[in-house]
Amino acid sequence: MSNETLRQELVELDKKYFIHPTSSLQDQQENGPGIIFDKAEGVYVTDVNGKKYLEGMASLWNVNIGYGRKEIAEAAKEQLEKCAYVSSFTGLSNEPAIRLAAKIAEITPGDLNGVFFTSGGSESNDSAYKFVRHYWKVKGKPEKTKIIARERAYHGVASGSTSATGIKSFHEFTTSLAPGFVHIDPDDPDAFRKAIEEEGADTIAAFLTEPIQGAGGVNFPKEGYLKEIRKICDEYDILFIADEVISGFGRTGKMFACEHYDIVPDVMIMAKGISSGYIQLGAVVLREHVHQDLIKYSKGVLMHGLTYSGHPTACAVGLKNIEIMENENMVENSKVMGDLLASKLKELQKETDIVGEVRHLGLVGAIELVKNQETGERFKEKLSVKVVAKARERGLILRNVVYWDKDTIVYSPPLCINEKEVNEFVDILKGAIFEVQ
Ligand code: PLP
Repeated sequence: MSNETLRQELVELDKKYFIHPTSSLQDQQENGPGIIFDKAEGVYVTDVNGKKYLEGMASLWNVNIGYGRKEIAEAAKEQLEKCAYVSSFTGLSNEPAIRLAAKIAEITPGDLNGVFFTSGGSESNDSAYKFVRHYWKVKGKPEKTKIIARERAYHGVASGSTSATGIKSFHEFTTSLAPGFVHIDPDDPDAFRKAIEEEGADTIAAFLTEPIQGAGGVNFPKEGYLKEIRKICDEYDILFIADEVISGFGRTGKMFACEHYDIVPDVMIMAKGISSGYIQLGAVVLREHVHQDLIKYSKGVLMHGLTYSGHPTACAVGLKNIEIMENENMVENSKVMGDLLASKLKELQKETDIVGEVRHLGLVGAIELVKNQETGERFKEKLSVKVVAKARERGLILRNVVYWDKDTIVYSPPLCINEKEVNEFVDILKGAIFEVQ
């Protein structure tokens, strides 16, 4: 069967049977899947027609160590053959889960030590909300239930995490959001103080934030913002939850983004880079004081558990993933290559008429498209849609963010990217921009 015949067959099956996540059902019927991936290696993915693309998003900000690592496949195979799955419910455990929990405690900042495993970011978020609410309940303050989240935030698509998300279009898929989530201005710590005044500290369980907002357009916190939030949380006895699903595991040039801002959250949420997408995995990590209080006050069975909490094969993959990241200095590479890429994008800004602000930390960044580079005025039509489409034709996969007035291209390539690949990234993007502007 020729590649094109295979593609056509897959397109028809896809249209009929495969309901895609976060996709237009009509677009699928009209256009089919734009790319059907076949294989991947390093920073590149190849489709069934043999066309190769540089994955400028590490897929969904998650394939941090890059594609095609045989050691991961071997670790998974070994564990699948030895003991693919066992439960971790009451009284049961397994070595990969135990060792990965200990490793996470070692690499997370401060005394973040107690690890609860999930299969991804949405589950981690919903679990974290339940943990903090349970924490206050067993500490005799059951009315502390509200979660204060930020506008523009993305936290996932489970019941709680949809409700915590501050991008309104994600609320449209449900008719009943979960109660107890309050969204505030994302940049001003005084908005948090105001929310505390209005809601009452004795009704607030936690403040929830991505240290760097990812899906909302790679928005960095204003100078001092997170430190001030940490201070306010301490002042009012409110727990601080950091959602490091995108920003964790080396993405920003440090193992966790919280380290850049010199804060230790009470609860950290992780997924994506924890296994670099080789398998589904996520975690909620509790600081020692939260963990110890739960041990002390939470009596009986903790009525929260997933079949796949502490999945041995997933945890074996997670362990190997961190080992590769550490052995190959990928966190440092994220900083060095991230700075190089951003400096080249800033040069590109001078060569073109439509590139506005370029911002980054390590290998996560954003490029604003503007009509006027001086004033930042935007085009009426979202040019980022066209630039991302042209870049894709030319062999570079990126994403754009067009919520609110944004016309933003975002990027987050695998952390193993090298200088040659950075140059290729910039050359392709430059070609796409020149074609559109
Ligand atoms: N939290 C953040 C910050 C995310 O970016 C995402 C996914 O993009 C999630 C949570 C949800 O993770 P998942 O898609 O694995 O459920």
